[in-house]
Amino acid sequence: MNVLVIGRGGREHALAWKLKQDGHDVFVAPGNLNMGGMTCVPIEETDVTALVSFAKAEQIGWTIVGPESALMAGVVDVFQKEGLPIFGPTKAAALLEGSKAFAKEVMRQADIPTAAYETFTDAASALRYIETMGAPLVVKADGLAAGKGVTVAFSLEEAREAITDIFTTDKFGAQSRVVIEEFLEGEEFSLMAFVSGDHVIPMITSQDHKRAYDNDEGPNTGGMGAYSPMPHLAGSVYDEAVERVLHPLAKTMVERGTPFEGFLYAGLILTADGPKVIEFNARFGDPETEVIIPNLVSPLLDVIEAVVAKKTYAIEWLDAYTIGVVVAAEGYPSTAVSGQVLSGFERLSGDVLVFHAGTTKQDGEIVGNGGRLFVLTSTKPTLQEARRTAYAALETLELPETFYRSDIAHRALIQIF
Ligand code: AMP
Repeated sequence: MNVLVIGRGGREHALAWKLKQDGHDVFVAPGNLNMGGMTCVPIEETDVTALVSFAKAEQIGWTIVGPESALMAGVVDVFQKEGLPIFGPTKAAALLEGSKAFAKEVMRQADIPTAAYETFTDAASALRYIETMGAPLVVKADGLAAGKGVTVAFSLEEAREAITDIFTTDKFGAQSRVVIEEFLEGEEFSLMAFVSGDHVIPMITSQDHKRAYDNDEGPNTGGMGAYSPMPHLAGSVYDEAVERVLHPLAKTMVERGTPFEGFLYAGLILTADGPKVIEFNARFGDPETEVIIPNLVSPLLDVIEAVVAKKTYAIEWLDAYTIGVVVAAEGYPSTAVSGQVLSGFERLSGDVLVFHAGTTKQDGEIVGNGGRLFVLTSTKPTLQEARRTAYAALETLELPETFYRSDIAHRALIQIF
């Protein structure tokens, strides 16, 4: 079947790689020149008209949407109107990610455990409110801020600064809204699922590493590495998250008249009172996708077709662990260096996979293009082995003006030893 993946990052590379493994002809729009074996199509993620024409011309059997920008551009709504098969949420359902205030409202309605919160549309009320709350607390700009709109404030001064910043700059859009949240303490984990209406097929767990440097120090990033599944997360916690978060969310979205279809991502914190939601994404996470997909044995489209047809489906997973280490350009997440030549990839063994994100190809060489450059993954029977293999492979590459964390999966490995 001809399949189209919309996007250009590591997440889309992993999805395209899997679809290719499953025997499909894979097109990626716009893709990345280093995605071997796929056909890159020079169409931007948000150019819905061109995507529709392409899908019709190439008789695309399924389109899979990666980034939120395409969802918010309404790609799913238009494809559905045209009768083209696409897996992803409509613009109305994608608001679960697009607006933190909307997500909170749905969670309140569905009685989903999450941090207590209040929403404000002006600075003065927000500033008054935090005085009554006290620190620590979390200040979140409403709307899409690519993970940069969140401040975990350990002092009221920090919280005041964050609020003032949201309302006095136009970084977060003209009609600023702020969500002020209770600070939750506990280990973070991600749980993703295939969802269609009230039908939910959950995936295995994964854990991202948001901070730029080892020991969870440095600024927040889009994610510096991940592993899956989490060996130390109790089955009862997983079951509780599925039952108290995923199912009620799917059901409530149907009841509200905006059924969700697509990959649903729940970011959770395991508190002393059980798992609580910190955010929903209306798509596959990145870098979580890159560590979940290599463990997926079932053909991806079989799972998608089962969920859409509301059939039960037992996903087959490898009895293994995957770790993924993100290599980022020096300076990321602020001003990242670009143009560095990255080499040595041809020497890598079949033991590891490389999913490209911020790289390009120039004169036959792989060149950095800013931000997170690529994710190197390894899948092995034990997490320790996967980690050793991934880091040993990274050492054989020449990666000037880049950095990566050396402690991915540290929380799991502390618990195992
Ligand atoms: P978000 O963009 O909502 O995922 O937030 C980014 C990061 O901020 C999360 O990955 C958490 O590490 C942290 N965070 C967000 N909300 C909370 C909360 N209520 N309590 C503690 N940490 C939080």
